[in-house]
Amino acid sequence: MQMGVDTRPTSPPPPVFEPDDMVAIEPPCHPQEPVKVPEGSQGPYHCLVCRTAFALED
Ligand SMILES: [Zn+2]
Repeated sequence: MQMGVDTRPTSPPPPVFEPDDMVAIEPPCHPQEPVKVPEGSQGPYHCLVCRTAFALED
């Protein structure tokens, strides 16, 4: 009798839901923590880290 080792691969994590119309913008205070916002929105946006409001300088 064979005792097989269960080598089933672990299931991959579910894909992150990321709508196409979202863009990542970098707050000037924490550019390493981009904020995802709807494309074309006007803001102001809020930094995820310190919650400082900021606007795009475009
Ligand atoms: Zn910040």
